[in-house]
Amino acid sequence: MDNEIYLKFLNIWNNAMVFGAIALVIASVLTLIYHRIRLSSFKDLKRKYDYLTENDIKMQMAAIWLFAGAVLLMLNTTYKKTMEVHYVWFMVRFFITFCISTLIVYISYLLYKYSYPSTLDKKLKHLRFKPRVSSAGNPMRLLSEEEEDVHLDEGMQAEEDVFSVDYDVWVDETTGEVKIEKYAGRLEASKCNTCGFYTMKLKHEDILTPASEVSEGEMVQKYECGYCGAKRTKQVKIHKLEKGQEFKLPTEMHFKGEKAIETITVEVYLNDGSSKTYEFQNIEQTKNFLEQYKEELESENELYKG
Ligand SMILES: [Zn+2]
Repeated sequence: MDNEIYLKFLNIWNNAMVFGAIALVIASVLTLIYHRIRLSSFKDLKRKYDYLTENDIKMQMAAIWLFAGAVLLMLNTTYKKTMEVHYVWFMVRFFITFCISTLIVYISYLLYKYSYPSTLDKKLKHLRFKPRVSSAGNPMRLLSEEEEDVHLDEGMQAEEDVFSVDYDVWVDETTGEVKIEKYAGRLEASKCNTCGFYTMKLKHEDILTPASEVSEGEMVQKYECGYCGAKRTKQVKIHKLEKGQEFKLPTEMHFKGEKAIETITVEVYLNDGSSKTYEFQNIEQTKNFLEQYKEELESENELYKG
């Protein structure tokens, strides 16, 4: 009697799981197709670049979540005969399959966090440096860091100097058409409310209450705009004490035959096993970047020391 109801339930359950799994697989495939279509709908390379930066990992992860859901449902239709013996097996199966699906999502997450970014980076680089075509149909030339300044206003140059924004300037040398594209820079700076450029940088921090291992602290941060000089202060909490990131930057760099250098790559390895790569066109730029980066690290470390 009771068992009969259980058997009926199992039957309905199996059908529902198969139906649900099919629906989830379809949803997963549709997500990927939609992503593809969106991407190819942008004619402009810069818009493709922005779309990928914003959505590529999100969309692929969504497809994986849906797929893992389908796996979960499908696995919950297995071992039918065993399930019929006792409902405890039903619970056991659900628990084990739930762990398997979680594992699928977790492993994919790790792959996307540590391995995929370099693949995405290649795709993005290809989009960013693929020669643009002007409205007259001529191929455009990407100006070097030294050449491009003429086309950037002072605020834009200030943004480039603090590495918060990177501008690419493309020129059609026959018609003189100029196309300026804005990319995220290698370091963070916030937007200045006065002039509107991304040139607001942390200059100084005053600790009001130092953080300890048991309680949060408090401090005042003083920001200054590198372009218009506007100042801003902000009161923020300091996280409880934990071990800070420690890494050293080269203090001095010497290169021979500077003219032959095409790109300088700086690779920073972080404590959590990840690494970041930054590319530069000349030594001057690299030196400035390392200076800025060092300042940022020092202010971060001060935070940890309290
Ligand atoms: Zn400003």
